[in-house]
Amino acid sequence: MKLVNQQLIKNTNMKHLYASIYSNPGISRTNLAKLTHLSKTTVSTLVDELIEREFILDSGTGESDSIGRKPNCLQVRMNSYYTVVLNWVENTVYTYLIDIAGTSIYEEERQLGAGDTYISCSASSLYDSVLKQCNSNRILGVCVVVSAMIDALHNEVYSTTLSLPSMGKENLIDALQNAFPEYPVAFLEDTACYAYAEKVYAGITEKNFAFLNFSRGIGATLFIEGKMLGKASGSFTQFGHYSVDSNGPLCVCGNHGCLETLIAEKRLKNRIPEFGTIPSLSNQDTVTFADLCKAATFRDPTALSMMRQMAWELAQALGNLICVVNPSLIILGGKIPALGEIFLEEVREDLKKVGFRKMVDAVTIRYSTLQSDSFLNGAMKYFFDIHYCFTSEDSSSFFIG
Ligand SMILES: [Zn+2]
Repeated sequence: MKLVNQQLIKNTNMKHLYASIYSNPGISRTNLAKLTHLSKTTVSTLVDELIEREFILDSGTGESDSIGRKPNCLQVRMNSYYTVVLNWVENTVYTYLIDIAGTSIYEEERQLGAGDTYISCSASSLYDSVLKQCNSNRILGVCVVVSAMIDALHNEVYSTTLSLPSMGKENLIDALQNAFPEYPVAFLEDTACYAYAEKVYAGITEKNFAFLNFSRGIGATLFIEGKMLGKASGSFTQFGHYSVDSNGPLCVCGNHGCLETLIAEKRLKNRIPEFGTIPSLSNQDTVTFADLCKAATFRDPTALSMMRQMAWELAQALGNLICVVNPSLIILGGKIPALGEIFLEEVREDLKKVGFRKMVDAVTIRYSTLQSDSFLNGAMKYFFDIHYCFTSEDSSSFFIG
């Protein structure tokens, strides 16, 4: 037991040191000790181990100026360790090899063929292609990212947007657990990965915040007192199925008037007739948030009234969300930033009319500023920060969320 605790402490300290070097490139051992409140001896020992294992490098060693040797200068080592991120979307596996220092160095796309499952297709991508890019022992783990509710309690995956016809009768979670025996595997939900990317790369300091993802569906991830609620499994919140109109259209979930049936991007085209016609969009098969924003910018009256109604519907849901968990920040991400400032302002104004005023007034609502593929880095970073262990070689680890 004592040894286990020591290993845990060592892992925590190494994570802390790596993260501090990552955020402060060029830092010296002395400043690292001050920053992390670890003893100089601990810092020195663990930094030496991180250098030896090629996680970091000391670019100051060997350099000298007229006075003598420069103080050491610690950096994370690029192109040294990786995480494989597999994104399953509509019978396609997108594979990425992502350096833990932050860059994607390889990516490919494979369609599921006849008889393929997401797992068999992922395995062939990993073993046939990815392993040609780097040594197997440089892969710290495999993340599988889906737009789905991964229910660890009932050992099942539920999704209204990801078709899972190719799994047959075999349980997906059980099969995934045994698919890549050489590596730890994490099964993650995409909105949670986006939210983690926001926290890390957009430098969010608020302990209570919500990230809303408007992509294929509508999802949310909540951080409560600094912790992601329900881990990265997507099984604690179904924000897209929050109903704002009990007489609204029937949703696949069985409810009426869910946000997904009203303001998801894929619903826009069918919803226009409710408000009139938008001549500039009438010939398009699909209508995107960006299309609607453009029409509203040029003062198309139908586009403006549709956008106003959508803002009102979202504001109602947000007002209730705020009453339940009181976040100080709400980030609207995925594709919805394309609706532009007109929509965001409308949501802010509408929020003043709903919800518990004292709480609502204290909330900042803004769009995400990260790229639309930020969930990939979010997945890599989440796996590395939360699940990777410097002091364990257990390749059979399997994490849901
Ligand atoms: Zn629903």
